[in-house]
Amino acid sequence: MHRFFIPQLYNEEMTITGVDAKHISKVLRMQPGDKLQIVSDDGVSALAEIAFITEGTVAVRCLEKLAESHEPAVKITLAQGLAKGEKMDFIIQKAVELGAYSVVPVAMEHSVVRLDGAKADKKVGRWQKIAEAAAKQSKRDIIPQVQEVQTVSQMLANNNCKTKIIAYECEDRMSLKTALREAGQLEDLLLIIGPEGGISEAELAKAREAGVIPVSLGRRILRAETAGLVAMSAIFYETGDLGD
Ligand code: SAH
Repeated sequence: MHRFFIPQLYNEEMTITGVDAKHISKVLRMQPGDKLQIVSDDGVSALAEIAFITEGTVAVRCLEKLAESHEPAVKITLAQGLAKGEKMDFIIQKAVELGAYSVVPVAMEHSVVRLDGAKADKKVGRWQKIAEAAAKQSKRDIIPQVQEVQTVSQMLANNNCKTKIIAYECEDRMSLKTALREAGQLEDLLLIIGPEGGISEAELAKAREAGVIPVSLGRRILRAETAGLVAMSAIFYETGDLGD
């Protein structure tokens, strides 16, 4: 069944406009009486049927709220050091598919890419669209937010997750597994991953100061676009979010 995000609070009668309305009427050629799933801004998902379609608007009537949630129990914010080219597109798409709650692109010391001003805004807009498409495809209940590009200090100051870890390629004592066990019940988690050039010592020191725990992801060095996905998969495996 097709699933649409409606940026309104849940209501028995709701209207879909914009590109989604066009998609429903012109591409899918849906008709009054046809059923679809909607997800409102407050995260409610419901079974709905099309009441009527006018130019540019699809009015839907909600039939029943769906209890089943597709969201993981732990809210992971992936703070990803800016990686080159299309790697960020890939990382964002996969992170959303796996279940990330939000993604922060971080301008790091060893990031080759420099993004600022209008260029950064444009990129974030593009990444948000990728997140939205991935959320729809993977049947998420929310559209994870791709936050604005931040420095390491900004990202650390803006974040209030209870558990914070940084995957550090030179860490040889603390494993992700041990860090997760020691953290106990996870509600939310900040996961920092470096760019291709890795994490600088100054960045590691700043993170430590902010209470972030450096962890190893094993003895092999993973690429920037692999590390976050591996860490997220392992975390979700531990929390039972890949199925018990
Ligand atoms: N250029 C660096 C590697 C960077 S890998 C070097 O050659 O050493 C990109 C990022 O992935 C790292 O900054 C880190 O956050 C993560 N990463 C990759 N492999 C890792 C590992 N084995 N343990 C912990 N983090 C790792």
